[in-house]
Amino acid sequence: MSFSFEFFPPKTRAGERALWEAIRRVEPLAPDFVSVTYGAGGSSRDRTVAVTRRIAAETTLRPVAHLTAVGHSVAELRAIIGQYADAGIRDVLVLRGDPPGDPRGPWTPHPRGFTYAFELVELVRSLGDFSVGVAAFPEGHTRSLSPESDLAHFIAKCRAGADYAITQMFFDADDYLRLRDRLVAAGCDTPVVPEIMPATDVRQIRRFAELSDAAFPEDLAHRLEAARDDPSASYRIGVEHATAMGRRLLDEGAPGLHYITLNRSTAALEIHRDIQHTHPSRDARSAHAV
Ligand code: FAD
Repeated sequence: MSFSFEFFPPKTRAGERALWEAIRRVEPLAPDFVSVTYGAGGSSRDRTVAVTRRIAAETTLRPVAHLTAVGHSVAELRAIIGQYADAGIRDVLVLRGDPPGDPRGPWTPHPRGFTYAFELVELVRSLGDFSVGVAAFPEGHTRSLSPESDLAHFIAKCRAGADYAITQMFFDADDYLRLRDRLVAAGCDTPVVPEIMPATDVRQIRRFAELSDAAFPEDLAHRLEAARDDPSASYRIGVEHATAMGRRLLDEGAPGLHYITLNRSTAALEIHRDIQHTHPSRDARSAHAV
């Protein structure tokens, strides 16, 4: 199985320090890759390029750069992909993105840009020898007209040149397994890696879940609500839930796990270490380095 970690480009110096501490803590584990998200606009985009470059230049990690089509002309997208290539980055997670400001607002493509992620997949593919990942949605993408069209568009995106997909966060393993079964039935064999979000803070998780439309299981919500004022109890509940879900996903054949860190690697590392006891990755030495 593969394992990997997701970071975001921070806005402040303190955030930058926290990011690099988290990166240095995952480095000895030799994850398959670490990914860096791409912001909705402005300077956070330059920070994605800068952080990804620095990971490539100063660590032993393999960085995967997220890239969205939001607000970019095709010429700008070509230029960013060129910057990644110049920095030796050959791995891109290709996304359509959401409208800046209100992510649920109407999607307006750049007049000389793209409307859907599959077009950006084709562009990245055409520009060189890149490994390309895409997004998958175990509960269906919020803008999809029907589950059938959601599946068909996802498969078309894979066939446009995706090597693998990473899912949106979810909290019920059955959502992932249903998507996996539907893909198999449709003849799509693109590996889909589940994203693991440790639900250690009920307020934060409810906000993320609302933004991503991820359903939040009521029993987990009740337990976290009950522990609302006890951070260490909430932490334990979130870690145990994510560990049990990760184990079940791997038992059911998921190709790996991608951990959201929010630039604080503690929960992700604890979940990973616990899972490694029962599901060692290709390099068992990494389990002891946490
Ligand atoms: P698409 O695949 O283009 O799909 C968007 C919608 O259009 C879907 O409803 C789809 O069914 C539909 N569709 C697709 N093709 C067609 C077609 N040919 N005709 C009609 N309809 C079609 N966002 C960021 O801003 N930055 C990030 O770094 C980031 N990282 C992410 C990482 C992961 C693992 C995931 C799961 C999401 C991430 N996102 C990120 C969020 C993502 O950009 C949004 O969820 C976005 O709404 C969908 O992106 P997509 O690439 O799946 O789009």
